[in-house]
Amino acid sequence: MSKHSQKINNFKAFCDQFERAATELGLDKNLADSIMMPDRELSVEVPLNKDDGSLAVFRGYRIQHNNARGPFKGGIRFHQEVDLDEVRSLAALMTFKTALVNIPYGGGKGGITVDPRNLSKRELEQLSRRFFRRISPIIGVNTDIPAPDVNTNAQIMAWFMDEYSQNNGYSPAIVTGKPVDLGGSLGREAATGRGVFFTIKEVAKEFELNLDGSTAIIQGFGNVGSYAAQFLDEVGCKILAISDISGGYYDESGIDIKNSIEYIKKNGSLDGFKEGKKISNEEILNLKCDFLIPAALASVINKSNAENLNCKFVIEAANGPTTPAGHDILKQMNIPVIPDILTNAGGVVVSYFEWVQNLQQFKWTEEEVNSKLEAKISSTFEEVSSVRKEKNVSFRRSAFMVAIDRVAKAELLRGL
Ligand code: NAD
Repeated sequence: MSKHSQKINNFKAFCDQFERAATELGLDKNLADSIMMPDRELSVEVPLNKDDGSLAVFRGYRIQHNNARGPFKGGIRFHQEVDLDEVRSLAALMTFKTALVNIPYGGGKGGITVDPRNLSKRELEQLSRRFFRRISPIIGVNTDIPAPDVNTNAQIMAWFMDEYSQNNGYSPAIVTGKPVDLGGSLGREAATGRGVFFTIKEVAKEFELNLDGSTAIIQGFGNVGSYAAQFLDEVGCKILAISDISGGYYDESGIDIKNSIEYIKKNGSLDGFKEGKKISNEEILNLKCDFLIPAALASVINKSNAENLNCKFVIEAANGPTTPAGHDILKQMNIPVIPDILTNAGGVVVSYFEWVQNLQQFKWTEEEVNSKLEAKISSTFEEVSSVRKEKNVSFRRSAFMVAIDRVAKAELLRGL
């Protein structure tokens, strides 16, 4: 397993997954190769004048994977383990995520190999602005629209927007995930966790489970995990255990979610949280529950631990939490895995809504955003599920089949 907490499978492993779905679809091999190969890969030097007067130099990337269905779309990550292979994999993932939920975007991703914890606020701003200027020749409102990702946030998007607007006029649609005061969408912050919840609602409908009285375990209690927990809690799903970097907290009568969120607001993490029994991040995966929701790391369910799982469903809120070998074991155990490209697509869907609002110079209410998101997740789930039944394949395979088919059709219609 990678040391990088957020790293998904490398590009080669991602291609294997793609190829299996493409073969099932009967896609022409050359067309498949053309879809998988990134359209453009930009690698840039990002120099920074540090506060102490010294010069530091960083490496940044923007990978534009595919734009057959619309502008490249995907986040910018600042992390010390960012590398070309990772950004390439994440860019490809975006192509299929946007295609699956049928929004008019392609896939892209970017990043800088830097540990932002070592930067002052001034240095972070300088680095962000310099990086944006370096990639700006290939960025545009109708060509490539960045967004936040690991260790980047609304403030950094505001700096990106400011850089672009200085040369192009006021252009909020150049990035999504902006502060609400600068054209960000209402509902964006909770969107990924809300999408996870809507996905679980669909699973419950399909498998005839009552969410009131059901149980869930959540590994990773950050933005995605904590919002998913709140929405599940509101409909009577008991959250038996939660965890973050400080470890896991298990209470068979159910964790008090409001209390745990308050605790994090005050203390920055769950460290020292007194509710329930303290368990490890490994143990939390083996607890009996209806919904196991990995919402932090990649590759946490793998060939060494998949057979210990005791859940009815794995709901992939994080990117790439189940390795292909782990997935095969779960298949044998008849545990359905609801894949990341469907489960965590709520974020990019509301990013798309933000872009649409910016282009129209119009603001939707939060209720409007949430109900449009639910309609999108619900129709996507139904589509994936119907292919799954018709072809007798897993949720992951059927999701990729739906997505690849859309990209392939667009490629062919546009002409290669
Ligand atoms: P976050 O930084 O807000 O939260 C991450 C959580 O994981 C934190 O609680 C952190 O303490 C915990 N964590 C870190 N190391 C851990 C470890 N070793 N064991 C257990 N927990 C650990 O991040 P997030 O935005 O909630 O993203 C979570 C996952 O969802 C990531 O895989 C991300 O790529 C994916 N995702 C996020 C979004 C989004 O809109 N935020 C969209 C799509 C996918």
